[in-house]
Amino acid sequence: MNTKENKKILNIINMMSKVTLLIVAVIIIAIYISGLICLPKFEYFDSEVQNFTEEWTYEKPDGSGEAFTMPVSLNTPIGEAVTIHTTLPYDIASGEYFCILTGHKFDAFVDGEPRFSFDNAAAYRWGGSVKAMYVPIPILPEDGGKTITLLFNGTDANNGTFREVVIGDKRGIHQYVASKYGIDMYLAFILAIFAFITLCVFTILSIIKKETLPLVHLASGVLVCSLWVINDSNLFQFVIGKPFIDGIMGYMMTLVVTVPFCLYMNRIQGERYAFLYALVEAFLGINFIVVSILHFSHIVSYERSLLYIDMVLLVVVSIIFAFGVYDVIENREKVKESAFVYLGMGMLIIFAVAEIAIINISVVRNDQVGGILIIVGLYILLFCAIMDQITRLRTFQLQSQAALAATKAKSDFLANMSHEIRTPINAIMGMNEIILRESKDENITNYAKDIYSASSNLLNIVNDILDFSKIESGKMEIIDEKYNLGEVISYVTSMIKVKADEKKLKFNVTASEKLPTALLGDSKRITEVFINILNNAVKYTPEGEVSLVISSSEIDSEKVMLEFYVKDTGIGIKPEDRKKLFEDFERIEYSRNKDIEGSGLGLAITQKLITLMGGTIDVESEYGVGSKFSVAIPQTVIDGKPLGDYTKHKNSSQNESDKKWGIFKAPECHVLVVDDNRMNLMVIKRLLAASEVQITTAERGSHMLELIKTNVYDAILLDHMMPDMDGIETLRQARQMPDNKSMTSPVIALTANAVVGAKEMYVEVGFDDYLSKPINPLDLENMLVKYLPEDKVIMTE
Ligand code: ADP
Repeated sequence: MNTKENKKILNIINMMSKVTLLIVAVIIIAIYISGLICLPKFEYFDSEVQNFTEEWTYEKPDGSGEAFTMPVSLNTPIGEAVTIHTTLPYDIASGEYFCILTGHKFDAFVDGEPRFSFDNAAAYRWGGSVKAMYVPIPILPEDGGKTITLLFNGTDANNGTFREVVIGDKRGIHQYVASKYGIDMYLAFILAIFAFITLCVFTILSIIKKETLPLVHLASGVLVCSLWVINDSNLFQFVIGKPFIDGIMGYMMTLVVTVPFCLYMNRIQGERYAFLYALVEAFLGINFIVVSILHFSHIVSYERSLLYIDMVLLVVVSIIFAFGVYDVIENREKVKESAFVYLGMGMLIIFAVAEIAIINISVVRNDQVGGILIIVGLYILLFCAIMDQITRLRTFQLQSQAALAATKAKSDFLANMSHEIRTPINAIMGMNEIILRESKDENITNYAKDIYSASSNLLNIVNDILDFSKIESGKMEIIDEKYNLGEVISYVTSMIKVKADEKKLKFNVTASEKLPTALLGDSKRITEVFINILNNAVKYTPEGEVSLVISSSEIDSEKVMLEFYVKDTGIGIKPEDRKKLFEDFERIEYSRNKDIEGSGLGLAITQKLITLMGGTIDVESEYGVGSKFSVAIPQTVIDGKPLGDYTKHKNSSQNESDKKWGIFKAPECHVLVVDDNRMNLMVIKRLLAASEVQITTAERGSHMLELIKTNVYDAILLDHMMPDMDGIETLRQARQMPDNKSMTSPVIALTANAVVGAKEMYVEVGFDDYLSKPINPLDLENMLVKYLPEDKVIMTE
């Protein structure tokens, strides 16, 4: 079976298992729902509890009576005492209670005899009772037919609101309340767990992603809502047994519950209405504080603020709804991405409005339906929001994977391209070097000089691209080594001086004599930074002067801030172009500067290198007048002795820089050069012609293996990238050959792979050293002087 068939079978099995799971889920849900609907109710204790629906009499203050049945809201002023009475049933069993649902203080009398007092003083400490509870008044079989009178004399509430009375024993009342409010509590409890788990999972994800995911807000909102339903349930007093606090918590939650929803919608709507949401959130915060202070200081209890609190809730919900509708109209395309959320929010709002209506509009407060409504709405919303968040995360993951792949592909492409370009440049520069050495014709020498300058520029661009791709792919390393600051400054200034002279620009250098002599840092990269900025100053200054000022300031006992600025009297940069300066491949005023060579990468690389070294770069510029680039890079001091006159510091290669080739002769030495590119072989041969070294060439690794069986070479120059067998493999096989006559000869890698750490890599695989292409004639000669037997090398001066 081939892999295609395998994949097909795997797909079919996958699909079948998903369908099976779905069927199982549907079966379970169907059995559960049908069981809930069809199975008979388990009613053990029903006989021991009954709703008391008989007529009551309200004893008005003027002495007259008003008949009513519960539930009722008598039109009595807040704080006025209310007395009501009714006749107890005849069939009272022992152990029964006359259980009234109220939160207000009262005294109960049976036939005028005091029987029971309910004092809500405990709630007073918490600002007063705000929620009704089932208060059991004990009654006896002999009380049958007697009058029970209840005197509500609390001063903090409307004493004229009565909801229900049930008569039953302890178990009966428990069972009654459980069956009436159990479903709300049960659903709310599961929702609370569900929301809590969601909150935990997405909080952890947020921490990992270092960004708060919107679902964290929504899960908090749903959690508060479900806790509110749990607190609001009349089962709370039987489960937790701490009345009063449930009601207070319920109000507090109601006051703030819309905040997480605002936070959530703000994120979902791409923070398009952030200011307005912030205003709403601020208002809700202040509102919470004010209303709560009023409650706890007994000025206006939560219960008396109920209408206001619900109005605020309604207004905020309407605002969220209005923003949603407006957003749907204005940003149709963006809203489509959040369709799930809008669906969920819409459903919740419908259910919430129904809930508020049921609680407030009708006196007939139907706790059962109300609670379930909002919970169902919340389940739908949470489910929709999770779907939305998962879709978002998935889209984000796919997008970032695609972006990463694209960046990697781009970096790889640039790195490969610059590698591929280096090989032909090696041939061009090498051949040109030979023409420069051998031509006696002035015209041809001048042409060759032009080729030299153009190919050097091309090489610089290729190097920039390589640097850029290394930085982009995070492979750029800063390699700290000890270096002499004076040497860096004199190298940089001597290079720039030549260019400034060519353009007849004045080049001023001021280097503080107090600069430390030796520092620890990446001198190669620091040199690059100096040269890039100075080169630009020279390039973009048609006339006038370029100044370089270098100083340092102490950071601590070990570190200094190396500071320098480059000022020119050049074309300057417009303020609007300044932000483009450090962008990749961005050239400013291209039409004006198109004759000036550049890739638009120099400053981008410079800035990234400076950042990698922990430094900063700033630009000041006046269009048409000139620019000033200021750089500060922290460096560790190795030798704090003042540098003095920097021009006195020149490194050995600089001293020899005038001498380009021909530093030694070694006619007795035998060197093997292996490269698949015939032109490169020719270049090396010609570059070493003056040294009179005997050179053998090979175009394949296999050819080299043949040659070393019979010849002893003083050194081998081995190209890395070759077809069939590359340099590394050739070297490995050579080292394993028992008949290798050049076993101890130094092997130097030739490579266009000029990445940082290349030397370490080549040394690790067994090379003695490496030379990067395009080959610098002097580097080549120095390398051979280093590795050829001393007694066979004659230095020419
Ligand atoms: P380029 O290779 O084009 O010089 P850079 O990244 O080094 O690229 O610079 C980006 C652009 O910033 C240049 O194209 C040039 O327009 C502008 N620029 C840089 N240095 C100067 C300067 N000293 N004066 C004026 N313009 C400058």
